[in-house]
Amino acid sequence: MINVNADPQEIAKFSELAHRWWDPDGEFRPLHQINPLRLDWIDRLAHLKGKHVLDVGCGGGILADAMARRGAIVLGIDLAAKPLKVAKLHAMEAATASVEYREVAPEHLARELPSHFDVVTCMEMLEHVPDPSSIVQACAQLAKPGGWVFFSTFNRNPKSFLLAIVGAEHVLRLLPKGTHEYARFIKPSELAQWCRDSGLALESTRGMQYNPVTRRYWLSAETSVNYLLACRRPQ
Ligand code: SAH
Repeated sequence: MINVNADPQEIAKFSELAHRWWDPDGEFRPLHQINPLRLDWIDRLAHLKGKHVLDVGCGGGILADAMARRGAIVLGIDLAAKPLKVAKLHAMEAATASVEYREVAPEHLARELPSHFDVVTCMEMLEHVPDPSSIVQACAQLAKPGGWVFFSTFNRNPKSFLLAIVGAEHVLRLLPKGTHEYARFIKPSELAQWCRDSGLALESTRGMQYNPVTRRYWLSAETSVNYLLACRRPQ
C-alpha cells in the first residue's frame, strides 16, 4: 500500500469483485444505473468536451470511460490494482481513446500535478477511506483555478441506514452485504465544511432517489440518502 489513507480491507473487497465490474446486472449494477444521471449532471455544469478530467477512485472505470466518450481527456486513478486492470482492458475492448489509468493515491498525485485538471470527480469513494477530508483537500489541489470538483457519497442518518444498508444490502440485495459501513457515511454539512476548508466554493447539490418497484433512479433535491456535490476552485 503506497498511502496510509486507504483501508486495505476496502481495497481487497473491490479487487475481489473486479472481474464483475462491467456486468450491468452484477454487483456493480447500481453504478451502471446511476451513471447516465451523474454523467449528464457533470457534463451540464462542467462541459466535458475537450476538458482534462481526473476521476479519483475510478474502480473499473464506469464513469471515467463515459466521460471520455463525451470528449474529455480522462485520467482514472485508484489504489486497487485489479479494478484498474479491468478498466484498462475495457478501454481497449471498447476502443475508448482518451482515457488512461494509474495506480496512485490522490494525495501523491496532488504533489505531482498540482492545479492540473479542469474537472476532478470523486464518486462513491469517500465513504470507503479512513480520512475523507484528506481526499477532498487533494481533489481541490488537483483542480485548476476555476476548475470543477464533484463528489458523491451517502448521508448519515436513520433513513440512510435503513435504505442504503438494510434495504439495499439485506432486503433488495442491490449491493453485496458489507459494501458500506454506516459510521463512514458523511453528512452534507461535513462534506461542505471539508470543501470550504480546502478553498472550494460550493455550487450545487443533488440527491439520488431510487424506486424499488420500477427499479429506476433519478436526481432530485432530496439529499437524505445518496447525494452529489459540485464545487469550484475560485479563479
Ligand atoms: N468511482 C467509481 C467506483 C466507486 S467504488 C464509480 O463511482 O463508478 C469505490 C472505489 O474507490 C474502489 O475502486 C476502491 O478501490 C477505491 N478506493 C478506496 N479507497 C481508495 C483510496 N484511498 N484511494 C483511491 N481509491 C480508493
